[in-house]
Amino acid sequence: MAPITQAHINLTAMQANLATVKQLAPHSQIMAVIKANAYGHGLIPIAQTLTTADGFAVVELEEALALRASGITQRILLLGGTVLDENAVVQCANQSIDVLTHSLSMLAIICQTKVNKPLAIWLKLDTGMHRLGLHYDEWDQALKQAKQCPHIGTITLMTHLSHADDLTRSTTQHAITQFMQANDKQALPMSMANSAAIIHYRNSHADWIRPGLMLYGVNPCSPGSRTLNRGLSLQPAMTLTAPILAIRTIQAGEGVGYNHRWISRKKTKIATVGIGYSHGYPHTASNGTPVLIHGQRAPLVGAVSMDMITIDISQCSAVQVGDTVTLWGEKLPVEEIAQHAQTISYALLTAIADKVPRIYEPVA
Ligand SMILES: *Cc1c(COP(=O)(O)O)cnc(C)c1O
Repeated sequence: MAPITQAHINLTAMQANLATVKQLAPHSQIMAVIKANAYGHGLIPIAQTLTTADGFAVVELEEALALRASGITQRILLLGGTVLDENAVVQCANQSIDVLTHSLSMLAIICQTKVNKPLAIWLKLDTGMHRLGLHYDEWDQALKQAKQCPHIGTITLMTHLSHADDLTRSTTQHAITQFMQANDKQALPMSMANSAAIIHYRNSHADWIRPGLMLYGVNPCSPGSRTLNRGLSLQPAMTLTAPILAIRTIQAGEGVGYNHRWISRKKTKIATVGIGYSHGYPHTASNGTPVLIHGQRAPLVGAVSMDMITIDISQCSAVQVGDTVTLWGEKLPVEEIAQHAQTISYALLTAIADKVPRIYEPVA
């Protein structure tokens, strides 16, 4: 690995994770969620790797159009993170992009818009997240309008679960039951499950599953629930690396970095590494956050700077300037770094800056 700050993306791991998803939900179609630049892994390369997915979900219209332009022929779903005007609806219809429809006003816009071919929609019910989605009281009316609208083609019924990663509550089971009951007379395809639900709630699988994080080899469950899915063999796809820029020895009582957030208790060997929050390494990473050097763990000491971090390498042997440090990856789970930085894996992966080159290891 060359000594520059970069994110290595293992495409074989991505395919293996997709196969694991298929094993967990063999009767469901897979809408692979690749929003936010495929969780930081690179939109087009990831879509072109997941060839056996049945569809791809993104948030930005630009992402959806870029996927079509790159030759993706599967279903593409625009998740409801943006406001769609009539012009956008026309573009979606022309490019066969499915549109998540989460309110009566949005349904009205779609029905008013003159399109050349029918638009496929995913009608969203709010089963408790209270973020997007139609209220139960509006659901029957929305379904009726959608079915009557000549501009609307395929209708898929969906919801998004608020607690699928938390196994200590009955909230998810309740939401699944409510969703099924609201739709028990409909002969339309249904979709509920994100990664955590795919792993823990078989009765949420239905016609379409929507895996995101697990495709990238990261466990979506809260640390407390993880022991339950030790058997799950997900392979982390991203390995983030950076080079050692300098090595020095400091004496007992000397501090490191801004405001000397860490002060040595004994003579300590410090390595300065070329990655910081401007690359997406979390500023909140605390003293003791692990990194890997030649397979050995070493702790972060001192505050994370814009372009650098400092590591205590006193316990590591044969470390030199120019050597490669791994910030997370196959042998150092990003979940663990997230805990040390009081954040979540999703936030770490999607924060990797554009300036960090993604290096793709082609499928073996
Ligand atoms: C992001 C997203 C997903 C994927 O969630 P993961 O937890 O990453 O599996 C699924 N459905 C919707 C509506 C989403 O916004």
